[in-house]
Amino acid sequence: MSKKSVNLFRAVESPYLVGNDGGFRIAGQPTTPPDNFALSKKAARRELQTCIEQLRDQQRKLYAHNKWALLLVFQAMDAAGKDGTIRHVMSGINPAGCQVFSFKQPSSQELDHDFLWRTSRNLPERGRIGIFNRSHYEEVLVVRVHPEYLGAQNLPRTPDLDTLWSERYDSIRHHEKHLARNGTAILKFWLNISREEQRQRFLSRLNEPEKNWKFSSSDVRERGYWDDYMVAYEDAINATTKPWAPWYAIPADNKHYMRMTVARIVLATLESLNLSYPEVDGDRRGRFDEMRKLLENEQ
Ligand code: ATP
Ligand code: MG
Repeated sequence: MSKKSVNLFRAVESPYLVGNDGGFRIAGQPTTPPDNFALSKKAARRELQTCIEQLRDQQRKLYAHNKWALLLVFQAMDAAGKDGTIRHVMSGINPAGCQVFSFKQPSSQELDHDFLWRTSRNLPERGRIGIFNRSHYEEVLVVRVHPEYLGAQNLPRTPDLDTLWSERYDSIRHHEKHLARNGTAILKFWLNISREEQRQRFLSRLNEPEKNWKFSSSDVRERGYWDDYMVAYEDAINATTKPWAPWYAIPADNKHYMRMTVARIVLATLESLNLSYPEVDGDRRGRFDEMRKLLENEQ
């Protein structure tokens, strides 16, 4: 048998797909739509709506087909719009077939386990879509920016930090490959907001009373570590983008463009799985006539 991965899910093409040649540089990544993006806000919304309807059909098939699960991972700096994107893109989906999990500071129970434990327990079942709002990647992002968090993890070994992060990348790569081999298609979205746009969004959280509740001074504190986060993102994305578990770096300064782009990638991915409703075999279908008669004669 060829060494080429058999039956592994493969990333769909997109200008935002991060290749696995190690050459991903955040400095060169757009945070705004391309210059030729001519869709008005209204047209972008309409396009999103069309995608959402097609997503709904694909999700029904995913459920009936019952061989694949889809995992969508969202990572971003604060105020990039993870919540809104998840809400919009999934708005047409049957809630029974889709679950969103948000990962915040780990609990003491979670800290008592290895770092992949808490996300592993919330992976989507076959036929379902699982969404991670933050994820196991926090362990090589926020924890890398604040290595003092490692203290609470009670690790038995203390390799130097570079070794620790590269071991974690290795664990993540193996974990995700294992999932891909066993029927979980994983898409990872990094919503790439510019530093200036984040500043504007924080300011409107402060200035507009109905947005006040979203404001958190710890977000402003984290913003102070912007450059450290970018280094952590760049390394983590380079180390873990694979054809079977791709990263997409989505421009996030324009919310309409971002949502539409994410929806298109999710849709194209589901289409690439060639999902179909299960065929009913000849024997069972043969008995349909009998059942039909039984039901029709009931009254
Ligand atoms: P929102 O602000 O939209 O409600 P959020 O995801 O930013 O959503 P918060 O409660 O504001 O939620 O923040 C959660 C915080 O938990 C983030 O700063 C995140 O980096 C942090 N966090 C997540 N996972 C870990 C982890 N494994 N270790 C330490 N901190 C983590
Ligand atoms: Mg927050």
